[in-house]
Amino acid sequence: MTRVTAYAAPSEAAPLERTTIERRDLGPRDILIDIAFAGICHSDIHTVRGDWGPQHYPLAPGHEIAGTVAAVGESVTTHAIGDRVGVGCLVDSCGECPACCRGEEQFCREGAVFTYGSTDRDGTITQGGYSQQVVVTEGFAVRIPDAIPLDRAAPLLCAGITTYSPLRRWGVGPGTRVAVVGMGGLGHMGVQLAHALGAEVTVLSQTLSKKDDGIRLGADHYYATADPATFKELRGSFDVILNTVSAVIDLRAYLGLLAVGGAMVCVGAPGEPLGLPIGSLIGGNKTLAGSNIGGIAQTQEMLDFCAEHGIAAEIEVIPASEINTAYERVLASDVRYRFVIDASTFA
Ligand code: NAP
Ligand code: ZN
Repeated sequence: MTRVTAYAAPSEAAPLERTTIERRDLGPRDILIDIAFAGICHSDIHTVRGDWGPQHYPLAPGHEIAGTVAAVGESVTTHAIGDRVGVGCLVDSCGECPACCRGEEQFCREGAVFTYGSTDRDGTITQGGYSQQVVVTEGFAVRIPDAIPLDRAAPLLCAGITTYSPLRRWGVGPGTRVAVVGMGGLGHMGVQLAHALGAEVTVLSQTLSKKDDGIRLGADHYYATADPATFKELRGSFDVILNTVSAVIDLRAYLGLLAVGGAMVCVGAPGEPLGLPIGSLIGGNKTLAGSNIGGIAQTQEMLDFCAEHGIAAEIEVIPASEINTAYERVLASDVRYRFVIDASTFA
């Protein structure tokens, strides 16, 4: 067991503070990663603040991890010391059930082990990437292509895969009219990825304040949802709507923007329910869907796709001492477009 420095929430109401956490000794198939950067995902905030239910505290969040391999267990074959690697939301799964065999480890029948706040195989509670080092099973670390700097790669491990996976599943490509709702961490990746897949991309943001960035990142159109005229003008215009909003939105209004047969995929995960009259779907053969991150093989595919297309997260790098301020800015939609913690400042 090694103790490393981390930032953890002592309770759901208290700010995160510097502490130490334990990392297990390397098993034969484990790798030790020196963390270089850790992204701040809105899910970290939902989790530590109890939006999704009770947690074990202290809790160090962080599931957008980029770093280099510092040591490998005796049976490790896929990574070597010095390799640039990433870890996302998953650190283990059974590897044998139908979901794992399909490459959807997040739906492991035995229960996937998530990167933080999850019960690990040895019964301990996992602790995330706001720390100096992490130990994971080799199969849960992916290769970060040389073309992507580690700081801009970190957010791809959650925001990247969470938007890439549903875009692929819903067949987004040339000719698809896609709307991305919310221009935050997930949204700004969704815009870049949908554009690179060849779709016609529209951003639906609360205001036009980030319009120039949206267009620069590949959007063809940009509308403010605070303006009621937007919902009239765009009625029936999209094949796929990707909802990345962290708060409750009026689903009925957005479903009205789908063309007949269109699908609205929700990845944004507010703690409260989103009510819906079923006629909003029946009147147009529409689909309302959800999507939960993505599996390990698809995460590697997404990273390689980003490298090939020159895509990465737009980031603001912060020292660990600014994590709590960054949380407030994320909650105020004041993020352009991902905060990334410089892990050297954990020391
Ligand atoms: P984020 O950076 O805070 O972005 C969320 C965006 O939603 C904001 O930038 C804002 O965009 C918009 N928004 C916020 N409050 C709003 C409101 N009251 N009404 C309308 N729009 C609002 O968060 P994120 O890290 O991208 O995460 C977004 C959500 O996805 C969170 O709920 C997170 O937990 C969830 N998530 C889900 C998965 C999954 O697997 N399904 C994975 C990761 C994250 P504008 O300023 O452009 O309006
Ligand atoms: Zn996340």
